[in-house]
Amino acid sequence: MNYVVIAVNKTQRNFILKQAQAKCQSLGLRLTEKRQGVLEILLQTVEPLSAYELTDKYNKSTNSPILAMSVYRILEFLESVNLAHRIHSANKYIACKSLDGACHHHLSVILVCKSCHQIEEIDSVQEAAKHLFKAVESTGFSAANARLELPGLCNLCKAKLDK
Ligand SMILES: [Zn+2]
Ligand SMILES: [Zn+2]
Repeated sequence: MNYVVIAVNKTQRNFILKQAQAKCQSLGLRLTEKRQGVLEILLQTVEPLSAYELTDKYNKSTNSPILAMSVYRILEFLESVNLAHRIHSANKYIACKSLDGACHHHLSVILVCKSCHQIEEIDSVQEAAKHLFKAVESTGFSAANARLELPGLCNLCKAKLDK
C-alpha cells in the first residue's frame, strides 16, 4: 500500500526544523545531527516511512551510515517529543507538521484515506478533543496525549465515488 502525506515546502521545512531545535532545547534535550537528519528525511518525503526505509534513505544521503537499530531509537526519541508520529495502521512514521505545536496538547487526528492512502494530520480539533477527554476522564480514566487514526475517504476520493 502506498500512503502519501501532505508535502511541506522548503521554507516550512526550515521553520519546522528551527522549532524542533528550540523545542528540544527547552526540554533539556538535544536534537543531534542524526536525529535532525532523520527528521529532515521525514519532512522531505511525501509518504510515511518505515524504520528500514528511513535507514536506507539516510544512508544514501550521508558518508556516515547508521544502523536500523539507531534509527529505531531516533524514531522513539522523535515520537516522545512529538516531532514525529507513528501511523499504527501502516507501521510507518510521518513528521509532525503542526507548525505551532498545537497537536501536542491532548489530541490530534490523523486522517487515513482508505482509497488513495493519503494521510493528513489535523490539529484543529482541540475544542472537540476537550469534550472527549472530559467524558473519558469522568470515568476516572486518565488519558495520555494521543493521536487518533481515523480511516475513511478523503474529499477527492469521495467526489469520485459520488459521480
Ligand atoms: Zn503532530
Ligand atoms: Zn483518497
